[in-house]
Amino acid sequence: MSKTFSIGGIHPRDNKFSKDKPIENFPIPKRVFISMNQHLGMPAVPVVKKGDSVKVGQLIAEPAGFVSAPVHASVSGIVADVAPYPDFIGKKVLTVVIDTEGDQWLEGIDRSPQIRSEITDTPQEIFKKISALGIVGLGGAAFPTHVKLTPLEGMKPEYLILNGAECEPYLTSDYRLILEHGQEVLTGGEMMRRVLGNDVMGIIGIENNKPKAIAVMKKLTSGFLQWKVVPLKKRYPQGGEKQLIDAVLGRKVPSFALPVSTGAIVQNVGTAFAVYEAVQKNKPLISNVLTVTCSDLSIQKNYRFRNGTPIREILTAAGAMEKDGTLSAPFAKVVNGGPMMGKSVANLDGPVMKSTSGLVLFTEEETKRKEPGECIRCSKCFQACPMRLQPYLLYQLALAGNTEELEANRVFDCIECGCCLYSCPAYLPLLDQIRLAKNVSLKNKRK
Ligand code: SF4
Ligand code: SF4
Repeated sequence: MSKTFSIGGIHPRDNKFSKDKPIENFPIPKRVFISMNQHLGMPAVPVVKKGDSVKVGQLIAEPAGFVSAPVHASVSGIVADVAPYPDFIGKKVLTVVIDTEGDQWLEGIDRSPQIRSEITDTPQEIFKKISALGIVGLGGAAFPTHVKLTPLEGMKPEYLILNGAECEPYLTSDYRLILEHGQEVLTGGEMMRRVLGNDVMGIIGIENNKPKAIAVMKKLTSGFLQWKVVPLKKRYPQGGEKQLIDAVLGRKVPSFALPVSTGAIVQNVGTAFAVYEAVQKNKPLISNVLTVTCSDLSIQKNYRFRNGTPIREILTAAGAMEKDGTLSAPFAKVVNGGPMMGKSVANLDGPVMKSTSGLVLFTEEETKRKEPGECIRCSKCFQACPMRLQPYLLYQLALAGNTEELEANRVFDCIECGCCLYSCPAYLPLLDQIRLAKNVSLKNKRK
């Protein structure tokens, strides 16, 4: 029987309409906007200036510390500007703008399609390349991968779990990556496993609504004693780090503790592919795969895009934009990421980034929020919460601005999965208020 996590969760329709669409290379944009703030930790520091000419794969920004990541040019051309530009939510972030000229790659990057599954680098060399070539977690959080692979005092990893759950409705980029590049994903995973230690066991967790992906990875791992595939029962948010560890190993990550305290480290399958490209091809993280989709089936795409491509350009190519620059009918809203954890796109001229996994289009009807009513004390939000929080209580405390009680009731354990919001029959904006309260508390702490 397939495994799953033990607390809360919901079963939204998966709407994986684009699952049979092969990955297409998105055309190289005329201009890219590469954010210095596209990973968790300190923003990167530009090492290029206006007027410099750059090649694809060239370093354009250095990490600002250990918890940071370098950034590389995703196109060749001339640096048009290094200045703050609005990102997809409209927040100004330091950005390197490059006007594309041709497609000149830095020497030493292997662009051949040949798959190299034999690993010749030592674990130390693998670690160095992951760090130098800007690899970050592609499951959403964009945590620098080298940091996650660095051993912490007294915490010995026993398992590396590759996250192929892709539990967010609509998104199919990880699924396509497994189907089309399963060998590279496994090789990248094996590299990370070797960095963590030869006695570490590799596990690939995939939800059972993707039987083809399970079959591909089972075939590739057959004969490898150190790897196994664990099929998971479809349930949201299975791809959450803590939920995946619970589902696969039955171990619970305590409040305020790091997942590695349970002996497990989780990396996304997309990250494993990026590690493969960095180590075997010397290729920095300059591109990724995203899904463009909607529920009326008119647009279904999986694109490999260059980092910094304007969202507008991707939507135009997909057929979602009018000539006057507005979204085509019937679409009214674009979400960056999946509908459960993604964020609304406020600025269509903002760029996609290293960890962008999808652009989901919604109609007015689909996004219309029902009028919130009164709480009927049904406890559905509590039952749905995978972190065993009391969303209704947190909502009330957030409205009252009671920071002390919010923290006492573990508001920082909230993984912002939206299960409470999805389950509430009174349509209360539970997550909106909880998220707001978390941000206010964090800002106060920083002060
Ligand atoms: S958003 Fe937070 S409070 Fe709501 S269900 Fe998810 S973890 Fe629980
Ligand atoms: S699900 Fe909604 S109505 Fe039910 S207890 Fe929670 S907040 Fe109240």
